[in-house]
Amino acid sequence: MRVVIVGAGQAGAALAAKLRALGHQGPITMIGTEKAPPYQRPPLSKAYLLGEMEEERLWLRAPDFWTEQGITLKLGQPVSAINPAARTVTVGTETIPYDALALTTGSVPRRLPAAIGGDLAGVYTVRSLEDVDAMRAEFTPCRRVIIVGGGYIGLEAAAVAAKLGLRVTVLEMAPRILQRVAAPETSDHVRALHADHGVTILESTGLERLLGETRVTGARLSDGREIPADFVIVGVGIAPDTALAQAAGVALDNGIATDAFGRTSDPAIWAAGDCASFPHKGGRIRLESVGNAIDQAEAVAANMLGAAEPYQAKPWFWSDQFDLKLQIAGLNSGYDHVVTRRAADGATSFWYYRGDQLLAVDAMSDSRAYMVGKRLIDQGKSPTPEAIATTQDLKALLK
Ligand code: FAD
Repeated sequence: MRVVIVGAGQAGAALAAKLRALGHQGPITMIGTEKAPPYQRPPLSKAYLLGEMEEERLWLRAPDFWTEQGITLKLGQPVSAINPAARTVTVGTETIPYDALALTTGSVPRRLPAAIGGDLAGVYTVRSLEDVDAMRAEFTPCRRVIIVGGGYIGLEAAAVAAKLGLRVTVLEMAPRILQRVAAPETSDHVRALHADHGVTILESTGLERLLGETRVTGARLSDGREIPADFVIVGVGIAPDTALAQAAGVALDNGIATDAFGRTSDPAIWAAGDCASFPHKGGRIRLESVGNAIDQAEAVAANMLGAAEPYQAKPWFWSDQFDLKLQIAGLNSGYDHVVTRRAADGATSFWYYRGDQLLAVDAMSDSRAYMVGKRLIDQGKSPTPEAIATTQDLKALLK
C-alpha cells in the first residue's frame, strides 16, 4: 500500500511514524508546504518566541529519522490538487499515486480584513516558524504592541512581550478574555496574572480599525479611542485548512468530516489533526491541540492498516504564561457550574460539572489536580463537588 500524507506537521509526522511502528513496509511520502522539517508549534508563542529555544529543538524528530524509516519527505512544496478518481496528488509538475491518502493540513490563522488595516506592515499572526521569525526583531524593550484577541495564543504572546520589556495591550471584544474556552474563574485568574506583570487588558473592546499608511501606527477601538502601537499581533482564532479537500469533493462539516475511524467521504482518503472533525458523544467535534493531533493520527495509521478501532478522544491542553502552567483536561462544553479547589499549598484548580458529571478541569500550576482530573475524566468518574473542594489527598479519589 502506497501512503501519501499531505501536511508535514504534528499529525502528519505522528501518522507516518506510527505506520512504520505498526510494521507497514510500503512507501510513505509526506509532503509539506513549509520548508522546516516537521516541528512542534506550542513553543512558537512560548519559549521560542522568548528566544530561549533553538529551532532544532522544535523539530519532532532528528532529520535522520525520516531517512532511516524510509519515509520520503517533500518539504517546501504544497500539494496543489488531489485527483480522487485517479488516486493521485499533484506537487509542482509531479503526479504522485496513492492507495491511501491522509490529509493532515492543520489550520490557517484568521486574519484581519485589509479594509480595516489587516494588510499593513507590522501586523503579524503566530502560526508558523516563519511567522515568528518574521516578527522577532520587533520584540525590543519599551516598544508598544497591541495584541488583538485574548485567547490562549494572544495571551501567551502578551506574556512573552511583557517579559521582554515591551508595553503590551490586549484587546478582547468579548466581555472577558478566554470567554470561548474557559469559565470566568479561569479568566479572572489569568487576567490578574497579566495585570501583575503590567499587561493592559481591555475587555468588551473591539478593534474598529488599524491605523497607518503603509505600516501600522496604532488602532482605533470600538469605543472611539485611538492607541499607538509599533506593531500588532493578531490572535483571533483559526479555521481548519480544508481547501484541498473541498476542491477534491471530500465532504466537510466544520473541517474535513471523518467517521469514527478517521476515514472521509472518500474511502481512500483519511484525515487527522486540526483539519478534521469527527464523531464524539453523539455529536461532532474538531480539536485544535497537540494531544489530539498525535492520538488521532495514530488511530488513523492503525485503521489504515485494518485495525477498525474507533478513535476515542481524551482531550488535554496546556498554556504557559509568565510562571503559570495552565493544564486542561477534558472538554468543558455544556458545563453548568464550576467548583474551585485550593490545595493546602495554595495551588488552585477549577472543576467543570454538568449536573453531577465531571467534564473538565483547569489546573493552575497544579500538576496533581491536572493528573488526577484527567484520570477521573478518562475513567468516567465524578467525585462530588464537596470531595473535590475539600479532600486533602486528591489521589484517593481515583480509588
Ligand atoms: P499543523 O501542525 O499545523 O500541520 C499542518 C501542516 O500542513 C502545515 O505545516 C501546513 O503548512 C501543511 N499543509 C497545509 N496544506 C498543505 C498542502 N496543500 N500541501 C502540503 N502541506 C500542506 N496545542 C496544545 O495542545 N498546547 C499548546 O500549548 C499549543 N500551543 C500552540 C501555540 C501556537 C503558536 C500554535 C500555532 C498552536 C498551538 N497549539 C497548541 C496547537 C497545536 O500546535 C496544533 O493543534 C497542532 O499543530 C495540529 O497539528 P496538525 O498536524 O493538525 O497541523
